[in-house]
Amino acid sequence: MSAVKITSSHAGHGGTDPGAVWGKYGEHIIASQINKKWLSITGGVDCSVENSTSINDNLAKISAKVNAVSKSGSNINISHHLNASGGVGTGTEVWYWEGDAVSKAYAAAISKAIANALGIPDRGAKATNNFYVHRNTTGRMLLIEWCFIDRKGDVESLLKNMDKAVVAATAALGYNAKAPAPTKEPTPVKKPEANSTPAKDFSKQYFTVNPKKVRLKTAQGLRKLTDVEFTGNSTYGGSYKAGTVFAITGLKYTKAGCPRLITQSGHLLTANKADVEEITVAPAKKTGSYKIKSAIGANIRSAASKNAPIVGSYPQGATFNYDQTVVADGYTWYSYIGSQSKKRVYVAAV
Ligand SMILES: [Zn+2]
Repeated sequence: MSAVKITSSHAGHGGTDPGAVWGKYGEHIIASQINKKWLSITGGVDCSVENSTSINDNLAKISAKVNAVSKSGSNINISHHLNASGGVGTGTEVWYWEGDAVSKAYAAAISKAIANALGIPDRGAKATNNFYVHRNTTGRMLLIEWCFIDRKGDVESLLKNMDKAVVAATAALGYNAKAPAPTKEPTPVKKPEANSTPAKDFSKQYFTVNPKKVRLKTAQGLRKLTDVEFTGNSTYGGSYKAGTVFAITGLKYTKAGCPRLITQSGHLLTANKADVEEITVAPAKKTGSYKIKSAIGANIRSAASKNAPIVGSYPQGATFNYDQTVVADGYTWYSYIGSQSKKRVYVAAV
């Protein structure tokens, strides 16, 4: 089989949309790694988006990028995702446009190849006429759910066997890549000690989603916006007492990935939760029903945070009753007591 031509490929989430997060694993980060490996084998245009401001904004920008290069119905575009289901699901699945037999055959072949490479169940080709990227792009769209991010066996196998799985998936489309040889020890370069430790997960100790409004727990100074490594004057933008409130417009990251908060005045403030706390609006006693608008559905979480464990999910159009709303982590959360778990759960309005 000669290789089918891939027009584009992208990570399904990006910017302020991290996708599913489970413990230290983030869908956006893993899918981006896969996407880079994929494109290095198949070629094609990278339609990932890193500057999105919301889930819907990310989907719209990805679709616009795909449409800029995918003009014909036979063009093939790939969307990389990891599934989540509160620890219940396992396996690989690939979503194709309902009724397109060609896409279905590719989807089935890719799903099988990945599942075999990872040693997890093959959930196979799945038809959709509802997913945003399928509905809003020209050409064939194959949306790969590589495995379940909230299933230890799945995600750990993916991280261990990623090269092998990408090679297998692209081989199912006729590409003949070999798994890259183990990387040779690079010539030692002068490297600060801190960089030799493995990449740190900052999401527990630092705000990784714009908290919008914070209060200082300890006295802090504001840094110059360009001083993201915090090596310059620590009170460049003034020094402030505990209790001072700042409006936050975004995040900036150090080379090592440590987040900093950008204040409304255009300075940097620490994002360490030991030093700054998010100001949340007290739960409003407001009841009603909420309908999921996002094309990719919404996660149900155990706390009002995008980093809180996922305990379930709703598809687009699903409706549920809530008894509280909470503003936190940059979102309005609709909250209720789970009928089976008897525990309070939260769904972000997106
Ligand atoms: Zn996803």
